[in-house]
Amino acid sequence: MDETALLARIDSQLHSLHLPGALENYRQLQDGLTAPEEALSFLSAILAAELDSRELHRYARNLRAARFPVLKELGAFDFTALPSLPKAKIEELASCRFIPAHETVLFVGNPGTGKTHLLIALGLEAVRRGHRVRFVTAAALVNELLLARTELRVPRLLRQYAAFDLVLVDELGYVPFSREAAQLLFEFFSDRYERRAVALTTNLPFAQWPQVFLDEAMTVALLDRLTHRSHLILCNGESYRLRQSRPGARGSA
Ligand code: ADP
Ligand code: MG
Repeated sequence: MDETALLARIDSQLHSLHLPGALENYRQLQDGLTAPEEALSFLSAILAAELDSRELHRYARNLRAARFPVLKELGAFDFTALPSLPKAKIEELASCRFIPAHETVLFVGNPGTGKTHLLIALGLEAVRRGHRVRFVTAAALVNELLLARTELRVPRLLRQYAAFDLVLVDELGYVPFSREAAQLLFEFFSDRYERRAVALTTNLPFAQWPQVFLDEAMTVALLDRLTHRSHLILCNGESYRLRQSRPGARGSA
C-alpha cells in the first residue's frame, strides 16, 4: 500500500476506534520519520488487530446477552419441508434491514413448522451484524413484567429492553393472559412500536387474539401496532417433528 492509501486507512481505523486525539495528531508525528511507509504499515496493522479483537468480544458479549435457548442457523433450515414459505422474503429479512427500520416480523402458524428455528436464526444473523438482540418467551416476558409491576419498576424494565435493537418474543398466545398481563404486554409492544424492532412467533390466527388478550379494544390496538410496518410470515403446514418421527421418514430407524 502506498503512503496515501495507508493514511486513508489509518484515518478510518482511528475513526472507527473513536480515537479523535490520535486521528488529529498522528500525521504530524509521522513527519520526519525516515521510513514513513513502514511505520504507517505497522501502525495500521496494530489498529486492525484492535478492531478485530473488539468485534470478536462484542460478538461474544452480544451472543451471551441474547440468551438463545439453542442455536439454530438459517443454513440448517430445510425450505423444501414447507414449500409455502417465502424463502426470498426470509433471506431478505436475514439481511436485517428491518432492524434499523424498527419494523416487526411475525411468524404465524401451527406448531412444529419451524417458527422458533427461524426466529433464532434471524436473531443470530442480527448478532453477527453487531446488533444487540434478546430472546425471550412470551410467558417469561409476562412474568418479568408482572414482577416489575409489583416492584414499581416497569419503566426501568422497558428501558432495559429498549437497549436491545431486536427483541425476539417466542410463543405468544400459547397461554391466555390475565387482564393485567395482557395490559403489560400491550405496554411493552407499544413502547417498542416504531422505536425498536420486534420479531415474534405465535400459533394464534389474528382472529383469536381477543380471546387471549381478553380486552377487545386493546387487542385491536395491539394488532394495529404489530401489523403496521410488519413482515408477516405464514408457517402453516405439517409439523417437521411429526414428519421426522414418522416411520420411514428420513433420519428415523
Ligand atoms: P415451532 O416453533 O413452529 O413449533 P420449531 O422451530 O420449534 O417449530 O421446530 C421444531 C423442530 O424442528 C426444531 O428442532 C427445528 O429446528 C426443526 N425444524 C422445523 N422445521 C424445520 C425445517 N424446515 N428445516 C429444518 N429443521 C426444522
Ligand atoms: Mg416454537
